[in-house]
Amino acid sequence: MSIKVWGFFFLSFLFNNICFAYDIKLYPIEHSLEYKPTLDLVFSGLNYQNQKVFFNDIEIFIQRLKQTRPFTENFGRIKFYCIYFSEKEKNVIFQQVQGFPPLKVRQDFLEDIFARLKSNYKLVIIDASGLTSCAELSSSEKASLIILGKARYKDKHSFAKGFLHELGHSLGLRDECVDCQQLLAAGPPNCAAIREDAEKWWGDLVGKDLRVNYISGCCGNKDYIRPTIASFMNDPGKAEDFGPVNERYLNELLKNKIVSNPSGS
Ligand SMILES: [Zn+2]
Repeated sequence: MSIKVWGFFFLSFLFNNICFAYDIKLYPIEHSLEYKPTLDLVFSGLNYQNQKVFFNDIEIFIQRLKQTRPFTENFGRIKFYCIYFSEKEKNVIFQQVQGFPPLKVRQDFLEDIFARLKSNYKLVIIDASGLTSCAELSSSEKASLIILGKARYKDKHSFAKGFLHELGHSLGLRDECVDCQQLLAAGPPNCAAIREDAEKWWGDLVGKDLRVNYISGCCGNKDYIRPTIASFMNDPGKAEDFGPVNERYLNELLKNKIVSNPSGS
């Protein structure tokens, strides 16, 4: 449930350029791309006993995404890919490490995916035996990583919600929890350090939407202000959606109407 910034994943992972032999394919799904795609999700699996289980997990995520606003109405803007590679190649590309984040990924591999897709993407690495989930605070215009440790989730519902939480980070949303460790400063669109910022970012929804208000605490700081009591960016297990403020932000982002600004500057 944590966020780290670009670059952290690549520390000390030096390499000589190699030729990658992996395959990347569009995930077969009944799904028509009605618009210019604004989000490319690339799935790769680690430590799976068999590929059938991996595909089943991707299916869980896709179905949950389809049922979650504002991805429901923007489903025709999302492209899904899957990476096929040998165990040997996985060992070259990924390096499991102690601590946080639990995985390092070769940067030339990430650049290679970009060259093949010719667009930015979110690389979703599902580690079947992993216990840690994390994502970089990023935006829709940047390639970034999401790591999901499947073993930490008790069932498929919490697994799917965990995916949505981390996807939220990778699209620029902040943590809305109070008891969590503060890893980043407050910032738009969903965690304000001061009341004036909160009024500027979601004041127009206060009074119009009964769920939206100025609630104490986010990014691990009780003095910061978040827009709703419950949301996937707070405790995903206790929430059923992203909440109106995050939904509006994600909707505009998926429709390419805004350029997100995760730095908050
Ligand atoms: Zn988080």
